[in-house]
Amino acid sequence: APTPPTLTPIAVAPGDGIGPELMAATLRVLEAAGARIEPRPVEVGQEVYLRGVSSGVAPEAWEELRRTGVLLKGPITTPQGGGYKSVNVTLRKALGLYANVRPARAYAPFVATHHPGMDLVIVRENEEDLYAGIEHRQTDEVYQCLKLVTREGCERVVRYAFEYARAHGRRKVTAMSKDNIMKLTDGLFHRVFDEVAREYPEITADHLIVDIGAARLGAQPERFDVIVTLNLYGDILSDIASEVAGSVGLGGSANIGQSVALFEAVHGSAPDIAGQDKANPSGLLNAAALMLTHIGQGDVAARVLNAWLRTLEDGIHTGDIAGEHTARRVGTQAFADAVIER
Ligand code: ATP
Ligand code: MG
Repeated sequence: APTPPTLTPIAVAPGDGIGPELMAATLRVLEAAGARIEPRPVEVGQEVYLRGVSSGVAPEAWEELRRTGVLLKGPITTPQGGGYKSVNVTLRKALGLYANVRPARAYAPFVATHHPGMDLVIVRENEEDLYAGIEHRQTDEVYQCLKLVTREGCERVVRYAFEYARAHGRRKVTAMSKDNIMKLTDGLFHRVFDEVAREYPEITADHLIVDIGAARLGAQPERFDVIVTLNLYGDILSDIASEVAGSVGLGGSANIGQSVALFEAVHGSAPDIAGQDKANPSGLLNAAALMLTHIGQGDVAARVLNAWLRTLEDGIHTGDIAGEHTARRVGTQAFADAVIER
């Protein structure tokens, strides 16, 4: 008898709002695609906050995260009002998630875009820079925020970007910084980029000052392949890229750490349409595909993505992307069924 495949345990947090229905749809697709995973539910989100755990992460969840090293997460609603920090920020800091990876590609003609040839990935440093959270009041009228950049932080994220390019057959990595002005901090990032790039001679490496880089990203996004950049620039550039691709609602993202990686959709918890079987599961499905590749199941990821693309091409669309190419408008679970059929 054939030996059963080894299953990789993954922590799964359905999240709030539309999260649970999207997670159910996504896990059904993964199972049908033959993903060799063992989902382990963990509690993260609104219910945990309301029980009085201000981090929004249940104590047992931390243990499971450290054990599995992988979290597939639905969107979380951060309660309004003081005392609540975003779960995303808490997880990023506590788990040392140093790189945020966000692919942005066009899915023309199903999703409207002026740049049908666009297919790029932004790798954003996720812990340092102006996000280190070091702010002071000097006087009542003068405030200061410290920009922290370390060689170790730069090297980790830049190396991740080149390794990512190599693993995914991408040919070019572009760094963006403002080292003409911030000669020490951004200068260090640029220098480390040049050093690391030499170890990857098969990949083209170039650098753009972030202002002209952002302008080119808006005007000619098809010229980019992988972009690696500091935290704040990455925040801005990845929103520009999603918007230009037109596929904000379809995007998945990965947060990579030394021992834990977190995968999630780019969109939020959309409480306005929660529980109505309306939401598009594509963002979480794309995040799950990133996760499968990360745990060495690129074959399953490809099967999922091909079936998903075929579903879009066949005109089976949820309401958010329905338009002139729509043959059948479906809800969340019927969309998942269509992907599974394919
Ligand atoms: P949060 O506070 O968690 O960010 P949100 O409502 O702001 O929640 P966003 O992602 O910012 O969530 O979504 C904005 C709007 O876009 C939602 O109100 C919803 O109508 C729509 N939307 C978001 N995600 C989806 C989805 N997966 N499918 C369909 N519509 C979506
Ligand atoms: Mg929002």
